[in-house]
Amino acid sequence: MRESYKRSELAKLKDEFGFNYSKSLGQNFLTDRNIIENIADALELSGQENVVEIGAGAGAMTTVLSERAGEVFAIEIDRRMIPVLENVTEGLSNVRILNEDFLKIDGGSLPHKYKLVGNLPYYITTPIIAKVLEDPLIPMPEQMVFMMQKEVGERLMSPSGKKSYGAISVLVQYYCEVSKVCSVPRTVFVPSPNVDSIVLSFVPKKGLSDDADVVRQMFAIVKAGFSMRRKTLRNSLASLGLSEEVLLSALSSADISPERRAETLSPDDFLRLAKEISAK
Ligand code: SAM
Repeated sequence: MRESYKRSELAKLKDEFGFNYSKSLGQNFLTDRNIIENIADALELSGQENVVEIGAGAGAMTTVLSERAGEVFAIEIDRRMIPVLENVTEGLSNVRILNEDFLKIDGGSLPHKYKLVGNLPYYITTPIIAKVLEDPLIPMPEQMVFMMQKEVGERLMSPSGKKSYGAISVLVQYYCEVSKVCSVPRTVFVPSPNVDSIVLSFVPKKGLSDDADVVRQMFAIVKAGFSMRRKTLRNSLASLGLSEEVLLSALSSADISPERRAETLSPDDFLRLAKEISAK
C-alpha cells in the first residue's frame, strides 16, 4: 500500500489515469492530512467498526480509515476513479470498493451496524442525508461524520427562528444530535472549490419511539409549512387538507398560535402539533 496522493500527485492523476475531474460529480479532493485525521478522530473508532465512506474519490480518507476501522466500504460512483482507488488501497485487506451511486444503494450492500463518513459531493449533500435518515431500507448508522459546504452545514445546525432554518434542519435535528467538528478552507482541495466547508458529526438519537404515522404527519406539516414560509400556519397548513376547525383546534391544543410561521417552530413543536392532528 502507499500513502494517499499528495497535492502535486493529485494534479497529475488526470494525466496518469487519463481523465478530468468532474465538476458535476463534486470532485474536489482533500489534501490536508490534519483535516482527514480530525474527521477520523470524530468517528471515535476502536478498530472493530464497519465504516462506510460515501464518495471515496482518490482514497485520501479511505487509507486512514483502513488503519482505524475493522472494515471499510468505499463507495464511489465514478468508475474512472476505481483504478485510482485500487492503486492507493492496494494490499489493504479490510477495504472493499463498491462502484455504486449512493443515492441508488439499498440496504443489501451495507453492513447492518456501521458508521458513515464522507467528504460529500456538494450537489447532493441534502439528498444523501435525507436518504440515510428516511429510507427504511437503509439501516440507521451509529454515527455520521460529513464534510459539506459551510452554508449547508449551518442550515442543518440552525436553531428555529433563523433564516437558515428550514425543512432539512427539522429532519436532521429530529433524528440526530448535531455538532461541529471543524471548519475547512477551500484551499485544501484539488481542484479548489469556490466555497468553504465544514465537518459535522450526527449521532442518531436513541429511543425515538414516535408512531410512524405521527412522524409522517410531522413531515407533511414541515413540508407544507416551509413551502410557504412567509405565510402564517393558519394559511400555509391549509394545504394539508384538514378542516379549518380541526387545524385551529390542533394548533390550540399544541399551544401554538395560528399566526406563527413555520420557521418559528422547533422540531419538538412540529412533533407536538403532529400528535394533536393525528389524535383528531
Ligand atoms: N473522499 C474524497 C476526498 O475527500 O478527497 C473525494 C471527495 S469528493 C468531494 C466527492 C466524491 O464523491 C467524488 O469522488 C465523486 O465522484 C463521488 N460521488 C459523487 N456522486 C456520488 C454518488 N451519488 N455516489 C457515490 N459517490 C459519488
